[in-house]
Amino acid sequence: MSKNPVATIVALLGAAFLAGAAPVPGVPEAAALWAGREGKIVPVPVQDVRFEAGFWGPKMRVHKDRTIPHSWRYMEHDIRSLRKAAGEKTDGPFNNTWGEANLYKFIETIAHSLGMFPDAGLEKQVDEVVDLIRRAQRANGYSHVFIINEGKPDWDPEFLDGSHDGYVLGHLIEAAIEYHANTGKRALLDIACKAADEAYEHFLGPKGVPGFCGHAELEMALVELSRATGRTRYVELARAFVEWRGRRMVKPVGATPRAYFQDAVPLRQQRNLDGHAVRSTFFATGVTDLALATGDADHRLAAGRFWDSVTLRRMTITGSTGPRQEHEAFGEDHELPDDGYHGSCAACGLVDFAHRMFLLEGQADPADVLERVLYNAVLHGISLDGTDSYYQNPLSDAGHPRYNSWVCCPPNLSRTVFQVGRYACASGGHDVFFNLYVAGTVRASLEDGPVVLKVGTGYPWEGKVRITVAPGPARRFAINLRRPGWCETAALKVNGEAVAPLRTTDRGYFRLEREWRGHDVIELDMEMPVRLVEAHPLIKDGVGKVAVQRGPLIHGFEALDNLGKAAVELGEDPRLQVGERADLLGGVRVVTGQDADGKPVMAVPFYAMANREKTAQEVWVRQRGMKPGDAWWEGRLYRPAHKITVRSVAPGPTQKDGR
Ligand SMILES: [Zn+2]
Repeated sequence: MSKNPVATIVALLGAAFLAGAAPVPGVPEAAALWAGREGKIVPVPVQDVRFEAGFWGPKMRVHKDRTIPHSWRYMEHDIRSLRKAAGEKTDGPFNNTWGEANLYKFIETIAHSLGMFPDAGLEKQVDEVVDLIRRAQRANGYSHVFIINEGKPDWDPEFLDGSHDGYVLGHLIEAAIEYHANTGKRALLDIACKAADEAYEHFLGPKGVPGFCGHAELEMALVELSRATGRTRYVELARAFVEWRGRRMVKPVGATPRAYFQDAVPLRQQRNLDGHAVRSTFFATGVTDLALATGDADHRLAAGRFWDSVTLRRMTITGSTGPRQEHEAFGEDHELPDDGYHGSCAACGLVDFAHRMFLLEGQADPADVLERVLYNAVLHGISLDGTDSYYQNPLSDAGHPRYNSWVCCPPNLSRTVFQVGRYACASGGHDVFFNLYVAGTVRASLEDGPVVLKVGTGYPWEGKVRITVAPGPARRFAINLRRPGWCETAALKVNGEAVAPLRTTDRGYFRLEREWRGHDVIELDMEMPVRLVEAHPLIKDGVGKVAVQRGPLIHGFEALDNLGKAAVELGEDPRLQVGERADLLGGVRVVTGQDADGKPVMAVPFYAMANREKTAQEVWVRQRGMKPGDAWWEGRLYRPAHKITVRSVAPGPTQKDGR
């Protein structure tokens, strides 16, 4: 045993596990950690999904054309700090402890964008920053320029909870992986590997000191880096970070409770996701990624407990989490106030957690949550024109202007939007999985080679999806179409012939296995009525109220559409209808109906709220005569409410008059 018994035990445990999990001795092939999971499900690379018109293609255009140019001005502190660390003479102000993470999230965003929209000028701009990062890096590989500029030691043990070393390095690694994948350039990846190697030496080397960064992020990035480079030592380090938490190895900053940085109890004793919601969801994602990489049963169980704690007890109807302003934290179970904090970055974190949970379990349920978060909480965080953002996303708002400090959230939201292709599709063995329905072309790798599938759909405005098999020799494989949680009635046809009876697999998909030929056509038609939804009775602000949902989209009421009052009371029979409004909010379908006095009311998709003049907003509203259902809740947080009274016609009358 060395001077550092815990480090030794964790390293030995990790090495033993990896020895069993990674069959390739020495340096395995790149992506061996995915490839080693034969028959398991892997995501379709972002580069293998091409978007066309439809819902997401134009959104990505906005992030490319508007958000990226707009963001550069907010990177000045960080670039100046890099110059200083690189030894250039420069005057402040300089960045804070977490600032660089924004720059790296921004570079990751640009990397995704370059993969979709090549742009030599933009690439050159990034290359210049990459060169600065290289010159700012300490000779030993340590790369956090805030600490370098402060003249502090690497991974300063007096400051590990607050310094954000690992958080920043994690985002540097993720940016490097994506920049390499999209441009073929290795320089940033080499910087990231050198920095990760320094971290390995610092924590797990011969003179290793146990510890971890108080803001989780590095764990999942290290697992990704291991997949990208084939070096299992990065998984070993991620494993050590996860195992060390809860063992009081890091000093809290000031009076910060240890739960804030997931250090209250060791992993195996953690039942819930607690503390800072972003740190917490990132931590859970890292744990899940480790379970994916190593097959560790304890990590898998912990991931499941964390998943249940969020999705069954601590998630709003829009998929946001973290209601408490103090410490930006999770609350108790069912503590989901309408005016809760619900930070945008926590929503991005939940998307990644959900994605890893889908890959781990192969079930449609996590993908269902992913869809809820993405179409509601995530998209709400950034304005429709891509140049304003919300840090907080309450469900009830008196009309706050957008909070445009352009800190952690905007580049996080952009990189999440650019990864929709990765979240949408996956493959494993002979199965292709469609988790999100996006218009475009997908190239999915199966055991016996790739298949190309073209998707046409007006989703999320309508539930029709048409998938065409690209020309090529006949092949036997299975196509899995996720049956969304909101979908009660659906029809499926292959080459015009109905699939009957239509069954949903145990995993939650419509599965079509056959010998596919070029030009074969699948048509999925999901009925998409308007639903009124009720909340679990323990969610206090939902008691006696309903929310409007259509397909995956939660809707809300804005005062300026409803005679100056967002807190409408729907009529007993609100006569809900769907109307197409090409003129409104970038083109949306709205839900119209009647209030308790027979006056017209209108709800717009939650993601598009707060994009016009300052106005009050409500998601949960009263309905005259509404009685909560008395059926068992079966662990769910939200369910359709007394849907008998809801008349829905889709699509409804087109209203041309702009309001
Ligand atoms: Zn944020």
